[in-house]
Amino acid sequence: MKSVRKALRAGDLEKDTYDRLVCGECEKPLKTENDPDEIKTVRICPNCGSEWKEIR
Ligand SMILES: [Zn+2]
Repeated sequence: MKSVRKALRAGDLEKDTYDRLVCGECEKPLKTENDPDEIKTVRICPNCGSEWKEIR
């Protein structure tokens, strides 16, 4: 799983005018999934199901 930071740099993710992360392919705002056992947050595109990790 790619990190959000890398994906932003690669253009896989973008930010919309409200500074939300959006999928570069679908242009849909990402959902957030917190895993209590992990130190990361998983961001998921509701449209294509791609996942990126965000280090907290
Ligand atoms: Zn997508």
